[in-house]
Amino acid sequence: TILVVDDSPENLQVISAVLKEHYKVKVAINGERALALATAAEPPDLILLDVMMPGMDGYEVCSRLKAHPATARIPVLFVSSRDEEEDEARGLSMGAIDYIVKPIRPSIVQARVRNHIELKRSRDLLERLTTQDHLTGISNRRRFDDFLALEWRRAAREQAPISLVSIDIDHFKAYNDHYGHPQGDQCLIQVARALASSVTRPTDLVARCGGEEFAAVLPCTDSAGAINLAEQMRTGVLAQGLEHAHSATHNHVTISLGVATLVPQADESPQALVDLADAALYEAKSAGRNRFVARQR
Ligand code: GH3
Ligand code: MG
Ligand code: MG
Repeated sequence: TILVVDDSPENLQVISAVLKEHYKVKVAINGERALALATAAEPPDLILLDVMMPGMDGYEVCSRLKAHPATARIPVLFVSSRDEEEDEARGLSMGAIDYIVKPIRPSIVQARVRNHIELKRSRDLLERLTTQDHLTGISNRRRFDDFLALEWRRAAREQAPISLVSIDIDHFKAYNDHYGHPQGDQCLIQVARALASSVTRPTDLVARCGGEEFAAVLPCTDSAGAINLAEQMRTGVLAQGLEHAHSATHNHVTISLGVATLVPQADESPQALVDLADAALYEAKSAGRNRFVARQR
């Protein structure tokens, strides 16, 4: 999807005609409309942005797009009739990926758009590969570490509580030994699905941290809220009805959870929260599994 922004209906018409054979094209007649479409449910993959527009000009639209995390990574191509070195440099220095000079030459626009869409695809793929667990499709360990570090700093700044739930499948070695590794992998996929569908806040993150271990980072969440979610996860996994004939705990697959909540202190690292959650998880295992234990500080 490509978003074309220009205050002239004729220009919109010309550029759309060039692109619509290969792409889905959305148009905006001013800056406000452009920002609304860029933050909509289906954001564009690329934005062609006119520089000179009455009201909010292209530079302003671009700087707002770059300032917002949700739109900062959408490539912007400026389209301008001003082919001064200064204008082009200004556009590129604001984070635009390219600069096209009017009048529109269809073959040039087509070629540049194709190149940038190709680059965007590679970037999106790389992003997915580096942040997504390949088996279950949920976030991976790397993404978990980055997210926890980010939210930890925010919680420290605002002196707000942050919660972490550490999750481990019960008797999973016995499951693998009995049902085989491929079936074990299917089980991991199902458990990941149950965990991911338990969280409802868009700010929460569920990740597979390795093997049969998962975790949920819950920013701005107190102990009561985290306990609520942990119990939902426990019953959610149980409700999947995954038979486990060799579990000493239950005849279905179960999880144990360690819930930790704290307000970060100065000079403390996220490891404090991880350690607290792991200690709680260890207690849940010792106390009989298929349960959570919560700790707060
Ligand atoms: P506990 O209830 O104490 O957690 O016991 P457990 O058997 O679940 O724990 P343990 O850590 O001893 O075993 C984890 C097992 O998870 C070992 C391995 O067979 C299995 N496992 C780890 N990663 C994968 C994976 O990617 N796929 C599959 N199928 N199994 C895995
Ligand atoms: Mg384990
Ligand atoms: Mg286990």
